[in-house]
Amino acid sequence: MTPLPHPAPPSAPLPTHALPSYLHAAELGPWGNYLQQVDRVIPHLGPLARWAETLKRPKRILVVDVPIQMDDGRVAHFEGYRVQHNVSRGPGKGGVRFHQDVTLSEVMALSAWMSIKNAAVNVPYGGAKGGVRVDPKTLSLGELERMTRRYTSEIGIIIGPNKDIPAPDVNTNEQTMAWMMDTYSMNVGSTTTGVVTGKPVDLGGSLGRREATGRGVFTVGVEAARRLDLHLLDARVAVQGFGNVGSVSAKLFAEAGARVVAVQDHSATLYAEAGLDVAALQRHAAEHGGIAGYAHAQSLSSDAFWDVESDILIPAALEQQITEANAGRIRTRMVIEGANGPTTPAADDILADRNILVVPDVIANAGGVTVSYFEWVQDFSSFFWSEDEINQRLVRIMREAFAAVWAVADERRVSLRTATFIVACKRILHTRELRGLYP
Ligand code: GLU
Repeated sequence: MTPLPHPAPPSAPLPTHALPSYLHAAELGPWGNYLQQVDRVIPHLGPLARWAETLKRPKRILVVDVPIQMDDGRVAHFEGYRVQHNVSRGPGKGGVRFHQDVTLSEVMALSAWMSIKNAAVNVPYGGAKGGVRVDPKTLSLGELERMTRRYTSEIGIIIGPNKDIPAPDVNTNEQTMAWMMDTYSMNVGSTTTGVVTGKPVDLGGSLGRREATGRGVFTVGVEAARRLDLHLLDARVAVQGFGNVGSVSAKLFAEAGARVVAVQDHSATLYAEAGLDVAALQRHAAEHGGIAGYAHAQSLSSDAFWDVESDILIPAALEQQITEANAGRIRTRMVIEGANGPTTPAADDILADRNILVVPDVIANAGGVTVSYFEWVQDFSSFFWSEDEINQRLVRIMREAFAAVWAVADERRVSLRTATFIVACKRILHTRELRGLYP
């Protein structure tokens, strides 16, 4: 390996652009937030900082047209993406979301946060993410299946069990993964279970995967609470989002004796001082497609959610929910980010000034991809583990990762987010350096 000259001659500026040309500053959105997070970590990277530009550019971006025949015979076109942010530590890994507001900037940020997350919990993956700009609720089941299959086929040129492994995310689930696995397998001519994770258990899926993200949120929540001397018994928990992540986190906190006082989803915002019956609310949401109409709670306006006093606030919906506009009025002791990117950098600073601890997404919601990793390993070895074994290993990884991040935050006097980025970026850039530049 020919070593690069180091330090680089300071006189000649590099012929490189600060931003990839396909991104205009005005469209930065979540990707802009991610770039700010990276900038905060660079001063802590020591000599590895010379590779930091790598983190600011996704390795590979694929934009695909997804045409499908609708039930009425017409042809509709949807915009699909798969972004591989970094593959220094292993194949790309990250979910696929179906949402009407999906943009390239969003998928880029989500792919980058996967790189950080996977490195933070030290699973041997890079980061990737995919999405289709579509409201899946407007499609029939048949249309949804055709859309999923065509999207999979279009991104099939860059995914694979050793290349990039999709998984569920917002509005995608085990059925989506079954269709993706089947489509990929039909195209390559052999059943390839390891191409996606989050599959049904009968199709190479893993026990415990569905609950894994929520279980991880709960696990780091317990660890953080202990360090703040916050007792879970009777602690007030507010949860935004009641999908796979929010509902499981709420249930585990309630089982530990906490009071889930507020829940918000796309359909309603509910409040109950004495605590909601989470299991009953889950049944209601499964039956009615949302929490609206649940009888045993007070209904609030959606903005009033941010005024609910809590000890633990769990944003588990979409990005950019806690912003400059509401961070000043949030009354809680800690925020555990179940969603990806729910807090903007400006809001992060406001919460820090107000002494509210933020357990960042890149560690808090890493339980999902951790069990995805277990699923992928089980698929390769065709040897399946018990649920107990999976949960124990998950809890151990989450606790160890959290403790390592906490120690860095303590030592460097930085936020948990910056500490997680320090741990993760060092791992990524160290492998980057070991591999060297090709050619
Ligand atoms: N979509 C999940 C996340 O944001 C899981 C990704 C995976 O399992 O690959 O972490």
